[in-house]
Amino acid sequence: MALTIYNTLAREKQLFKPIDPKNVRMYVCGPTVYDYAHIGNARPVIVFDVLFRLLRHVYGESHVTYVRNITDVEDKIIARAAERGVSIRELTEGTARVYQEDAIALGNLKPTLEPRVTETMDEIVAMIAKLVANNHAYVAEGHVLFHVPSDPDYGKLSRRTLDEMVAGARVEVAPYKKNPMDFVLWKPSDANLIGWDSPWGRGRPGWHIECSAMGEKHLGETFDIHAGGIDLQFPHHENEIAQSEGAHYGRPIANYWMHNGFLQVESEKMSKSLGNFITIRELLAERRFGDEQWHGRVLRHAMLGTHYRQPIDWTLDRLVQSRTMLMEWARILHDAPASDDIHADVLDALNDDLNTPAMFTALHGFAGAARTSPEDRARFKRALSFLGLYGNERDADFVIGQVIDSEAVEELIAKRNAARKARNFAEADKIRRELAAMNVAIEDGPRGTSWKVVS
Ligand code: AMP
Ligand code: ZN
Repeated sequence: MALTIYNTLAREKQLFKPIDPKNVRMYVCGPTVYDYAHIGNARPVIVFDVLFRLLRHVYGESHVTYVRNITDVEDKIIARAAERGVSIRELTEGTARVYQEDAIALGNLKPTLEPRVTETMDEIVAMIAKLVANNHAYVAEGHVLFHVPSDPDYGKLSRRTLDEMVAGARVEVAPYKKNPMDFVLWKPSDANLIGWDSPWGRGRPGWHIECSAMGEKHLGETFDIHAGGIDLQFPHHENEIAQSEGAHYGRPIANYWMHNGFLQVESEKMSKSLGNFITIRELLAERRFGDEQWHGRVLRHAMLGTHYRQPIDWTLDRLVQSRTMLMEWARILHDAPASDDIHADVLDALNDDLNTPAMFTALHGFAGAARTSPEDRARFKRALSFLGLYGNERDADFVIGQVIDSEAVEELIAKRNAARKARNFAEADKIRRELAAMNVAIEDGPRGTSWKVVS
């Protein structure tokens, strides 16, 4: 089955046809790193990581370029750094590092490139200059603004009327704007603010132009897939289209636009004032949600339980169910042999616009056979590691309400074998007891020592 994806631009599911199957290109809007990412921010990261994995599977690992940017210049960042009395760089480096660690802990692959705005300033300035030259932008009081009426196609992604757009964009009324919809490409920075030299004076870029420039720099004028959360459809993505297509004489920025639905917590919108705002870090490392610490793969499983375009309700129940499921699977899998084969039904479900609920249904069907046949167990393990739900690198296995570090187990077994070789049986027995305390049973056989988790 070939890959079909729901293209927001066309409002329908379409067969995916890459521009160049030897270099499939995808851009996902990354975070503005002024604070730790919340669990809603994890949704696009996880969902589009699954797409990245699928594309690598279909087109070959070296034939997919995935760019997920880091927005490290933005007014929220400036405000937060000032509030905390730290430098902008200190703030953004710290939050970006946590974001990247969280993304790995959630079982995501590293994107091919994670460009930063601060490293893209030449391209941003060049693109703005092009827009001014093409009469899509104008200079006013130290600002450069994109003139929305210069783009007759403006609004084609969100399909909104002008009135809806004005309301939705919460347009800032400013005397220097020719049209209330016009948006900022460049704004002036006074001497004590972060800024870069430009033909329009010292200043800094607006948020939208940053993504247009990073996309162009790393993926070219037109790439295959552009994605992000549904909230970005308007105005952010609409503005990216206007800028990039304005700079490139109407050539499209991306052929497919994908948007994930929103996440809410226990049926409520997540917000600081409701006290239900949860960061990924809190879920992973603090006893914040249900007074528990959650393994990254449990969060990943929970996130993929709902189709990416639907809204998702993040509940304690959901996490408990995901953990139970993963633990059960881990028990089946820890001694599974390796395989390269992924079930066709799993791939078919993903090829159908990333239908992860159908994919889980298919997996449940295979779990029974995996219990009894080593061959099925091998394929099952392959499917789960393909999905980022099970790892055989240094990683933890889920067991009976706890997490076991398989590498630590292997190390203890090696130590025990060394002790036995040295005829130090007291030490060997001590290690066996240590393993038993971790719920790990070992068995010495002709081909060495095997281990399994017992309840
Ligand atoms: P931001 O840093 O706010 O630009 O968000 C980074 C990414 O997270 C964007 O793709 C947003 O669309 C997405 N996002 C933000 N909040 C949520 C949420 N509650 N549910 C799902 N996605 C979200
Ligand atoms: Zn963007």
